[in-house]
Amino acid sequence: MCLLELKNINKYYKISGSNKFHAIKDVNVSFNKGELVSIIGESGSGKSTLMNLIGGLDSNYSGELLVNGKDIGKLRKKELDKYRKSTVGFVFQSFNLISHLSILDNVTIAMTLSNVKKKARIKRAKEILSELGLENQINKKPSQLSGGQKQRVAIARALINNPEIIIADEPTGSLDSKTTMQVLEILRNIAEKGKLVIMVTHSEKVASCSSRVVKIADGKIISDDEIFKFENTYELENASSNQKRFKFFGIRGKNLGIISAVKLSLKNMKEKLTRNIFLSIGGSIGIMSVILMLSLGNGVKTYFNKTMNNYVNPLVIEANMPSDEDDETINLDVTTIQKPELNKQKSFEDADIQKLSQIENVSKIEKGYTSISIGSNSLNYDGKSSNLMRLSTISSNITESNLQEGSLPKEGEMLINKSVSDKLGGDVVGKKVTLNILLGQKVVKTELTVSGIENAGGDLSSIMKSAFLNYSDLEKIYLDNNSTLKPNVMYLDTTNEKYTPQIKGKVKELGYLGSSQDQMTSMFNEMINIVTYVLSAIAAISLVVSAIMIVVVMYISVVERTKEIGIIKAIGARRKDIRRIFVCEAFLIGVFSGVIGVVASYLIMKGINTMSNKLFNINLVIIRRVYAVFGLCVSIIISMLSGLLPANKAAKLDPVESLRRE
Ligand code: ADP
Ligand code: MG
Repeated sequence: MCLLELKNINKYYKISGSNKFHAIKDVNVSFNKGELVSIIGESGSGKSTLMNLIGGLDSNYSGELLVNGKDIGKLRKKELDKYRKSTVGFVFQSFNLISHLSILDNVTIAMTLSNVKKKARIKRAKEILSELGLENQINKKPSQLSGGQKQRVAIARALINNPEIIIADEPTGSLDSKTTMQVLEILRNIAEKGKLVIMVTHSEKVASCSSRVVKIADGKIISDDEIFKFENTYELENASSNQKRFKFFGIRGKNLGIISAVKLSLKNMKEKLTRNIFLSIGGSIGIMSVILMLSLGNGVKTYFNKTMNNYVNPLVIEANMPSDEDDETINLDVTTIQKPELNKQKSFEDADIQKLSQIENVSKIEKGYTSISIGSNSLNYDGKSSNLMRLSTISSNITESNLQEGSLPKEGEMLINKSVSDKLGGDVVGKKVTLNILLGQKVVKTELTVSGIENAGGDLSSIMKSAFLNYSDLEKIYLDNNSTLKPNVMYLDTTNEKYTPQIKGKVKELGYLGSSQDQMTSMFNEMINIVTYVLSAIAAISLVVSAIMIVVVMYISVVERTKEIGIIKAIGARRKDIRRIFVCEAFLIGVFSGVIGVVASYLIMKGINTMSNKLFNINLVIIRRVYAVFGLCVSIIISMLSGLLPANKAAKLDPVESLRRE
């Protein structure tokens, strides 16, 4: 059985519409191991076309092309890739080395595509390169070699997977006569060792060195002469060791691994370093804006919540009755207050108190009463008078830390805030003051001692003239005037801060409201969230821009590297491998953009916070780790999605046409 047999091969090229060009006409020929065949013929006679068919680069023909008795026209795509990868080796006139890869990488790439381990790859490549006298050149780039050396590298690359057939399309066409002889000698050696070498040439001199000369004209074989036979010294060696080797690389070899793909991509990207740096910076801007917008929202929210909770005892949870009117929210705008009595809140009944006290982790429950009004309550001292906008009972909510002066009120005492104290002349701690409460239609006067000055809640609550007294004292005042005090606020105490959120949640679940501060905080948080998301969405528009940028740059890259893609395909890369290399590049761009974006965000955060700390004593921008991770992921996903289109285009390139590209 012949190694390679062509039966009735016909090949037509489509020219335009239904116009076809008959390039190979009824070719019947067979070749054997250990032959060095020269194919000669005029330019345009169909030599390259024939080589591409034999090499499995072009499957669009009729007839049978048998290799070891197997018709390669009937192979599945995957098998055909494997055939190119391990059964044939290609050598081209123009060397077709990949310029940005070292000699070693150029030679090993075919093994990289088979996912052979790095160590094995290098060992095998060094072996072959030193056989061809190139052991000192392995770290050079192709441009640093002479033509003869380049062609020897190309031969080494063709031999790396130990193929049975070497196809050389005018391998000496670009070489001077001295190096031509060197390369011929090498090809002869290869044939002598039992391979089939088919070489296209123009030169009669070159042809005369081969064992057989096939003449082709106008797509037909016009002569086929055997000149001599190599002594088949190879048979022994070949049958045992080489066959085993062939199995190792050809059959057990897998496909391009992810890590190799990343390494290849990195080498490609290094070649166009400036472009890729700018691309990454461009991509990072969108990521950075989104991260910064989210972080700005977070910073503002954090600042607000901290301010709101600064003076609140975290161990006390406030519960309020919801008002009758569903839509009536807490109205903080003092100027709109018209009614003297604003407390339209319902009171807590025993059943409510019962329900609240049963919440888990509540250690104590306190009754409270708060009256917010204009004109109904006031304080008199030493001929001076102050309105009380808020008259409230004291609870554990107010602690020593809220006091500016004095102590918390005991029985018969009251706590007033700074603005009330100022109104009464300032020096009132320890003094007796008169509290006037409007109860029903009459004003009730009670003498109380000022125990201290409260200064809690920051600016917000200090403008509200407030006084605090014990629940029992207020209850007594009501009782003395034939009235009953019902709590309109309940304070739930707990033992550990960690229970607070859960208790707050439960209070809401039972249908009560939290403290006015809590309600305001959550309202404000919601507002900031909306603004943050809107701003982030606007910032995200720049992500679309960077996606388009990546698509464009990668399309350009595919066009630039068409030839390289053709070479890799000729060596046996599958579509999937090509796609993988490009998607990997997109992935790396995504990683770089993301990392630059995150790092830049942190730097900008530092800058802004330094400034805002100087001016307002706050951190305006607070990046959370999830934002950084989110930014990085978004960057990678967008890049990879954008890379898919160009990668597909690259994968679909026709190898024959790509190789013809200059
Ligand atoms: P050569 O013997 O010089 O290598 P080729 O095999 O490259 O010749 O080409 C054989 C013939 O087929 C030429 O006439 C060429 O014009 C034609 N041909 C080659 N490739 C194509 C193609 N892609 N489309 C149309 N015609 C082609
Ligand atoms: Mg040609």
